[in-house]
Amino acid sequence: MTEAPLTTASHGKIMLVGIGPGSVDHMTQRAREAIAESDTVIGYVTYIKLVADLIEGKEVIRKSMTEELDRAVSALEAARAGKKVALISSGDAGVYGMAGPTYEVLFQAGWTPDDPVKVEIVPGASAINSCAARVGAPLTHDFCAISLSDLLTPWPVIARRLDAVAYADFVVALYNPKSGRRTRQIVEAQRLFLRHRRADTPVAIVKSAYRRRERIEFTTLDRMAECDIGMLTTVLIGNSNTFVRDGLMVTPRGYANKYQMDNDGATRDGEKPGRSLSTGLNGWLEALSEAHAAGDSVATLAERYRLPADYIAATLAEPVEVLAAEPSGEESES
Ligand code: SAH
Repeated sequence: MTEAPLTTASHGKIMLVGIGPGSVDHMTQRAREAIAESDTVIGYVTYIKLVADLIEGKEVIRKSMTEELDRAVSALEAARAGKKVALISSGDAGVYGMAGPTYEVLFQAGWTPDDPVKVEIVPGASAINSCAARVGAPLTHDFCAISLSDLLTPWPVIARRLDAVAYADFVVALYNPKSGRRTRQIVEAQRLFLRHRRADTPVAIVKSAYRRRERIEFTTLDRMAECDIGMLTTVLIGNSNTFVRDGLMVTPRGYANKYQMDNDGATRDGEKPGRSLSTGLNGWLEALSEAHAAGDSVATLAERYRLPADYIAATLAEPVEVLAAEPSGEESES
């Protein structure tokens, strides 16, 4: 008896395809291939239109925004029947997109990674990347994304996160900032941010990046809620060092902490290229123990550095390691 050949043709596949901001030019090669390979395409009408040239002859299931779980269920049914299904998301499918709900539906249906139905996630440029590219270089330092949508998340959870990142001085991208029915969320976000950030903190309002109706507006934190903001807008709020110059929003990387920018790039006193700043972890630990030894209390130090007292105390209790050997190579900072 001969062994039956391995049939892959009958095994379905679900591809979660992020198509980027919404222009064909900003879609990846793999995203186009995945759509071309598929038998069935499922997605929101606007995104299906963008790939119209690739889907001739395929089964197309157009769904509305609120039918996410239905979409995942349809995908699983089709894949179980041996079809290759492309689920199309704008931006990246894993960023406030279909990837999460799809895995949830799959697990609920008893799916595991060993299942004959395979899953592929095709990454795409998320709105945060596209909008940032359009306004300059706002994300060159620590950043985060917060969705203002309270359709599935309680407001206190959203508000707590806004408060924490405003305090922690992140550059922030607000997704889903406002809709016809959700108009007060952006006002509350502004209120929370103004408790920690300067009124003149730069803000960029980016609507429909890389789409036909693209619109970009620069404003400041105290005025952002008055701007034209909607479902297709991402709001980028700078950190305390972000600036706008000649129509470009830029967040410094920190080179000015180490190098004299106006003096042929010479390092500042006490700093070394390729090594942590003098105020980096080791330098700071030394300064901390010195200050403590000189009489500054844990409470004083906690206030000075805006860090929890128990963290300061725990840190002081541990001896500072002095690095004996020089590291073999310089660390890259790019
Ligand atoms: N998966 C998507 C996000 C979906 S949530 C991604 O990774 O980008 C929908 C929100 O994304 C919108 O409310 C808006 O805040 C943002 N967004 C999506 N496309 C955008 C675009 N082209 N320009 C500006 N914002 C966009």
